Order: sequence, then structure tokens, then C-alpha cells
Amino acid sequence: MQKEKVIVIGSGPAGLTAALYTGRAQLNPLVISGNQLGGQISLTYEVENYPGFPKGITGPELVEAMQKQAERFGARLTVDEVTEVDLSHGRPFRLKTHGEEYEADAVIVCTGASPKRLGVPGEEDFIGRGVSFCATCDGFFFREKDVLVVGGGDSALEEGLFLTRFARRVRVVHRRDKLRAGDTLQRRAFANEKIDFIWDTVIEEIKGDGKVETVRLRNLKTGEEQETPTDGVFIFIGHYPNTDLFKGQLEMDEIGYLITDERMMTSVPGVFAAGEVQDPVFRQVATSVGQGCAAGMMCERWLETQEG
Ligand code: NAP
Repeated sequence: MQKEKVIVIGSGPAGLTAALYTGRAQLNPLVISGNQLGGQISLTYEVENYPGFPKGITGPELVEAMQKQAERFGARLTVDEVTEVDLSHGRPFRLKTHGEEYEADAVIVCTGASPKRLGVPGEEDFIGRGVSFCATCDGFFFREKDVLVVGGGDSALEEGLFLTRFARRVRVVHRRDKLRAGDTLQRRAFANEKIDFIWDTVIEEIKGDGKVETVRLRNLKTGEEQETPTDGVFIFIGHYPNTDLFKGQLEMDEIGYLITDERMMTSVPGVFAAGEVQDPVFRQVATSVGQGCAAGMMCERWLETQEG
């Protein structure tokens, strides 16, 4: 059993910032990375709206810089995944990973969120064989190919625009006739001659032999169905919080986002949360960093009140 003062679960911008702040407070935090070191941002090609980088910065570069900065102040990062927690009996909190068991005086949960699935036949079968949730990871494999992007939010358009670097044609399938994405992205998408829109339409089924070959589309207004050939389906329809580990132990809303108070504390004193795991609204690097900072500071103050 390894004993720690502070364990940060997750290594995205919220987790690395919580580690920076608790590191600077001499708490020698341990960051357990999760299965995606750096979180979702490490799969993002370019971050254009994080202040301080007027020309933008790639996701992996930003993560590396955040990690180095936290480590400079004593944070340690282990590449492992938390598989079990016992938070309901108070201090010390107990955590298990694939390789180790830990006790911690305080925990900061920064497990982020994962992409939502469509839930249609073929989707799971073709993941990695034409179905993708990450243009940065897989876009390269679609050079001169025809791809569909599902969704009408910022992610769908941002990733769709990124895919135009590789793909011959990008068709955005959206269930309404109005986009949710911000104006700037909408303007860029409408101006891009490789991008077309298929409005009021959902994917009913993804089909192929060994890889994606066609999808069955249904127009929600007319009920009309059609099968269209495509090489890839990129799905960007939002996210769900990674909170399965904490069910029955930490209070959540009806979707599963952790509930925190204004000091980033969860329903269990000594367990804090920051970033997308508790934020269904903003979901920006800048807000996750702010929440990670607040959680780190509040964690330090809470530990002080527990001493003596
Ligand atoms: P989002 O804003 O929730 O958009 C999800 C899109 O998917 C919506 O257009 C929604 O349709 C559609 N959708 C949801 N469930 C669906 C289903 N089952 N079948 C078909 N379509 C479905 O998610 P997001 O685009 O990932 O963005 C999340 C947050 O991150 C937002 O706050 C966004 O501003 C932010 N973000 C910002 C940037 C940036 O600033 N550059 C980049 C990426 C994300 P409806 O419109 O009909 O609901």
C-alpha cells in the first residue's frame, strides 16, 4: 500500500493544473494518468483559444508543457488507470489501479469525459475500421476519401474542417436544419468547398464488409431513407462524464456529472473534482485549467484544516 498526501486522478488540463498547484504547495501530488495521457486535448490537433498562444498550439505540445511545469514543482505522474475507489469511509481514501494500491489524504478527480455513441447497428463493429471519434487520430487514413461527420456543434465543424486537409469530401450529417456551432466555425465550414451538409438527417445503420462501405440515412422530416457510400464516419455528438468509478460514492446529477460546491469539493469532504467530469457547460481548456487551479488551492486549504 503506497501512501500519498494528494492523488490526482486524470492527466488532462484540469488534472495537470491541480497537480501544479498542489505541487507548489509542497504536497508532492501523484497524478494517475488514466488511459489517455493528457486527456482529450492530447487528441486535438490545434488549440486556438487558450490564452497566451496567439498563433495557437497543438494539443500534445500544450499537454507536455503542462506536465513539465507540474513536475518542476514536485508532481509525479504514473501511467496507470484507477480501477476501484473507496471514498465513502473518509480519510485515508483508498484507490486501486492495475498495478498498485494507494491510500491518500485527499483526492482530486479529473477523469474528464468521453465521446457519446450514436447507438446504431455497425457503430461498435467498425470502430477503427472506418468509424472514429477523433479526426486528429484517424484523419490521415482518409486521404482522398469520402467521409461523413455526424453532429452540428463546435466539435463536428472543427473536426470536419480538420478532415478537409485529407479527405476529398466531407459531408456533415445533422439531425436539424440549424447548427449549434458558433458563428466563426459555421462561416468557415460554409465557405469550405469540400464540406456539404445533409440536414434533418440521422444515421440508422453503418454497413460494410470488414470496413465501412455505406450508411443508411433517414430524413427526419420526410421519413425518406437512402443508402449512401462512404469510407468513414466521424461521430461528434457530445460527451458523457467518466464517473462510473464513483457511482454510489459521490453525488452526481441525472446525467452522471459530479456535483461540486463553489470550492470544487464533491459530496465527500476531502474529495475534489475539476474539469469536464463536473462541468457539462463550458468544456474548454481555459475553464478546465481554472477549475483545476481552484481544486488544487481548496485541497491544500482543506488539508491544513485537518492537521493537528
Ligand atoms: P454539443 O455542443 O453538445 O453538440 C453536439 C451535437 O451533436 C449537436 O449538434 C446535437 O444536435 C448533435 N447530437 C447529439 N446527440 C445526437 C444523436 N444521438 N444523434 C445525432 N446528433 C446528435 O457538443 P460538442 O460539439 O462536442 O461541443 C461541446 C462543448 O464544447 C460546447 O460547449 C462547445 O462550444 C465546446 N467546444 C468548443 C470548441 C471551440 O471553442 N473551438 C471546440 C469543440 C467544442 P442538436 O444541435 O440537434 O442538439
